[in-house]
Amino acid sequence: MTASNSKKVLVVEDEREILQLVTHYLEKEGFRVLTATTGIEALKKVNNEKPDLLLLDLMLPEMDGLEVCKRVRAMPEAAMLPIIMLTAKAEESDTIVGLELGADDYVTKPFSPKALVARAKALLRRLERAPSAETTHYRYGPLAMDLGRHEVRFGEKEVLLTAKEFGLLEHLLRNPGRVLTRDVLLNTVWGYDYYGTTRTVDVHIRRLKQKLPLLDEAIVSVKSLGYKLKEL
Ligand code: CA
Repeated sequence: MTASNSKKVLVVEDEREILQLVTHYLEKEGFRVLTATTGIEALKKVNNEKPDLLLLDLMLPEMDGLEVCKRVRAMPEAAMLPIIMLTAKAEESDTIVGLELGADDYVTKPFSPKALVARAKALLRRLERAPSAETTHYRYGPLAMDLGRHEVRFGEKEVLLTAKEFGLLEHLLRNPGRVLTRDVLLNTVWGYDYYGTTRTVDVHIRRLKQKLPLLDEAIVSVKSLGYKLKEL
């Protein structure tokens, strides 16, 4: 028995061959698999079957994956449903939009089913130990963050951060392994009404790395998408 045994995955894909292949691999790993070939069918199944994970192809007939993603996030009971998008390389701008709409991860086609299963398991694992809203402490190797005291320590030494550097670090530590787009970071840390550009984010990431050299390797830039804190 593995932890994935009880998990229900909804795979949304209109290409039958890919759908069958992914289903086969997931079932082999002990997941229970539901399938949908259109966006409408996917929304119905999210609503009725309450899956634990959604694997969502972006290119679907009639209603595309981005619209499905948006509508799923608007359902109160599915707002936290983990979503992995299946994207093509040419859909990079759609991938950014998807991440901003609240998808958790993406896999670029052509993908190996094995890699996809690994990503699915990693995401479910990450969510199982995800910090709650009441989390007040984070640890990342020798790095410790205390939200209550507004303090960051590297080993014994306190590291002084500006308010925005602190906010940025908090958001990264809250979401290890997840790609965070510049816009998401900007909106979360600076707020929607902030009048600035995404370059602001790059500048602050660079400063964080200067103050905490451990992060130089740990925060990776993900192509044109944004940043990700490597999972320890
Ligand atoms: Ca498709």
